[in-house]
Amino acid sequence: MSSEAPGGLILIVEDNPTNLLLTRAVLERAGYSTLPAATAAEALEQLRTTKPDLILMDIQLPGQDGLSLTRQLKSDPATAHIPVVALTAHAMDEDAERARAAGCDGFLSKPINTRTMAVELANLLGAPATRSKEAS
Ligand code: MN
Repeated sequence: MSSEAPGGLILIVEDNPTNLLLTRAVLERAGYSTLPAATAAEALEQLRTTKPDLILMDIQLPGQDGLSLTRQLKSDPATAHIPVVALTAHAMDEDAERARAAGCDGFLSKPINTRTMAVELANLLGAPATRSKEAS
């Protein structure tokens, strides 16, 4: 690849096709490149050849769940440095705590907020989203 989008590359681990489409649309509009994975196995396959700048991790996945996958990635020196942002439908404090305990660097609740998601991820990446207009 000759160049990456200014916002960086985000691996989206999400088994729900509608959520995946929406998330990709929001992030690509904000200047990110995205890669999809529907399962933990697909994510691991992607990570063999690609090192994303951030991983957006649905917690509820068929088979190996997102917290288990996060623990695995954080224990592997090849992937431990990649920020992982958990996505869960249950916006409860204990879920955020469980996500942090598994090694997640951030936490977003579903349904996603299409107006603020790109900005929240940009803050986690330490760089502004390139075309975000919703700064509040
Ligand atoms: Mn899911």
